[in-house]
Amino acid sequence: MDYDLIVIGAGYGGFDAAKHAADKGLKTAIIESREMGGTCVNRGCVPSKALLAASGRVRELSDGEHLSSFGITPGTVQFDRQAIADHATQLVENIRANLTKSLERAGVTIVRGTAELAGPQQVAVRQSNGVERVLSATDVLIATGSDPFVPRGIETDGLTVFTSDDAVRLESLPQWLAIIGSGYIGLEFADVYTALGCEVTMIEALDRVMPTFDPDIAKLAGRKLIESRDIDTRSGVFASKVIPGSPVKIELIDAGTKELVEVLEVDAVLVATGRVPTSADLNLAAVGVESERGFIPVDDGLRVLAGGNPVPHLWAVGDVTGKLMLAHTAAAQGVVAVENICGGNRTVDYRSIPAATFTHPEISSVGLSEADAKALAAEQGFELGSVRSYFKANSKALAELESDGLMKLLFRKDTGEVLGAHIFGLHAADLIQEVANAVARRQSVRDLVYEVHTHPTLSEVVESAYKQAAHALAA
Ligand code: FAD
Repeated sequence: MDYDLIVIGAGYGGFDAAKHAADKGLKTAIIESREMGGTCVNRGCVPSKALLAASGRVRELSDGEHLSSFGITPGTVQFDRQAIADHATQLVENIRANLTKSLERAGVTIVRGTAELAGPQQVAVRQSNGVERVLSATDVLIATGSDPFVPRGIETDGLTVFTSDDAVRLESLPQWLAIIGSGYIGLEFADVYTALGCEVTMIEALDRVMPTFDPDIAKLAGRKLIESRDIDTRSGVFASKVIPGSPVKIELIDAGTKELVEVLEVDAVLVATGRVPTSADLNLAAVGVESERGFIPVDDGLRVLAGGNPVPHLWAVGDVTGKLMLAHTAAAQGVVAVENICGGNRTVDYRSIPAATFTHPEISSVGLSEADAKALAAEQGFELGSVRSYFKANSKALAELESDGLMKLLFRKDTGEVLGAHIFGLHAADLIQEVANAVARRQSVRDLVYEVHTHPTLSEVVESAYKQAAHALAA
């Protein structure tokens, strides 16, 4: 064998797997067809958060009413679109370079090219010069990630109709931008573009915007992030046809009746309708594996399944497995897969994986949705507890004049076990980690209530939820 482990794809999942494998002494190679770092570093988390950081400051400094409540008289705020874009590009380059260096330092062999499976424990790599070679390894791990999903009828040109792959470069600030999809990617870009002066129309196929969020959180967040901004919304409609140009034409049909309801003419369209797994060119048939709508089926230990049975020495992690498509999920899966390759018996606890939307303010969640918690309560015969903790009652949030916020905590009324939490408010993405840790340990609010929180901090929003929940148990 050429290697102990070959990893296909150097995104967050592949990176963490390869690094962990090398640290554990495995002779490891990683194959990447595009830029090192994958979606997160080059086209996802990293550049989008850089844009949100810069545009968030523009929004804050432009909010005269908010600043004057602090006694601050704002001046005229000016920004340079290209400089904001450069900030994102620079950050991407730094993180990509650091990540590549850390793999090299760990002793991982980086192979440039497009990989496909050539049979059990065999990977064929096509390099950019056309040369193909076959590498062998005791174990092979697939971490090929995902790409933006563009529905049928929508034509992209990368300029007037584009996906997040292009939006992260912030090449223009269209006066009127339509964003198709109101998931976390659509919301984050709406935050960026409106802060920089664009008008946004958000189009959602389901009957309410932000359909994937907790309904109470979505109601409050929608007021602050959508209704109070230069954003109008259309829900229950499909963008059945989008034609690039100047203007861009969007045909909207009713999601139920499929009848044409409106034709919009806008300056640009961002298509944020989800992501699809990157697996079509992997030649999965060579190892007898059939994907499920492109997703590679895996067991809890990240072994690839064929007909429900693990394929020896074949593993998959990250977006291509379709479980909570987030960078930290991919990384966690990568480490677990390598532990199992080394003879361990680990699984990923998906319930305790938090998710965040980095709008201003942020939205976050962990664990079960209220609907799933209710279903579990009915199935297992326990009473579901739900309490709300408001940022309005938090000294730090009040000091920041940022008291629009809510945390909903879901717990078992019999044992007090925390089942989930949903937060909208200042630094919600940081606040959720504490609850995620509690969910991971299946902790009860009976114990959590004795954990001391720093005063005055936003973390007291969580403390207050725990106290209310513990009170509800005792009552
Ligand atoms: P990817 O990062 O997609 O990496 C897969 C790699 O495999 C790619 O580099 C690809 O070129 C390579 N590859 C594919 N096929 C082959 C082949 N045949 N041969 C060789 N190489 C191949 N997640 C968060 O947790 N937090 C966030 O804030 C966040 N923000 C996001 C914002 C945006 C705009 C987007 C689009 C995504 C965001 N995500 C975020 C999601 C996150 O980027 C992904 O979940 C994560 O990148 C998945 O990692 P991965 O390793 O599975 O795949």
